[in-house]
Amino acid sequence: MLFDRDGTLITDIPHNSDPGRVEPVPGARAALHRLRRAGLAVGVVTNQSGIARGLLSWPELNAVNKRVEALLGPFDVWQICPHLSGCSCRKPAPGLILGAAQALHVRPQECVVVGDIGADVEAAENAGARGILVPTATTLSGEIHGEVADNLIDAVSRILGDPEPDPSYLDRVSSEISLRRVWKAGFGE
Ligand SMILES: [Mg+2]
Ligand SMILES: [Zn+2]
Repeated sequence: MLFDRDGTLITDIPHNSDPGRVEPVPGARAALHRLRRAGLAVGVVTNQSGIARGLLSWPELNAVNKRVEALLGPFDVWQICPHLSGCSCRKPAPGLILGAAQALHVRPQECVVVGDIGADVEAAENAGARGILVPTATTLSGEIHGEVADNLIDAVSRILGDPEPDPSYLDRVSSEISLRRVWKAGFGE
């Protein structure tokens, strides 16, 4: 499962060069944890034109990405487009997704791409992968089409199915029920 970075895994701060400002979106950590536990590879496919624009250096970008991994856990692959135009990797071009699939030794058709804007899901389509849009407040309404999830947890449930109930929760509920039965029996309600 491949994720756009800005606006999908972390709050979108354009051309951010400061690791201290990296802030995961709600549910990102739990969604990734569930995927990793299920044995799925996870990756990041991100446009970072700040490099081409001279607003961001590679060491700064690497430091930000390292912070992303410190907060969200390790990713099996990172595919980064540093260009502004004229390349085959800047989303909606398929290059990042094809590169990630190759690095993971899977076919693009086996990949799911999750992103917050039209270019992410178009890149998925152009690579032959499945795209899921998780819109944010800044997603343009015209971009909201195709498969849409409410949030990252929902997106992951679309791939893995609904999560099993936590067994410790069921234990707690059933012990509460039997306590109530004992109480009722003892006090003759
Ligand atoms: Mg984005
Ligand atoms: Zn590129």
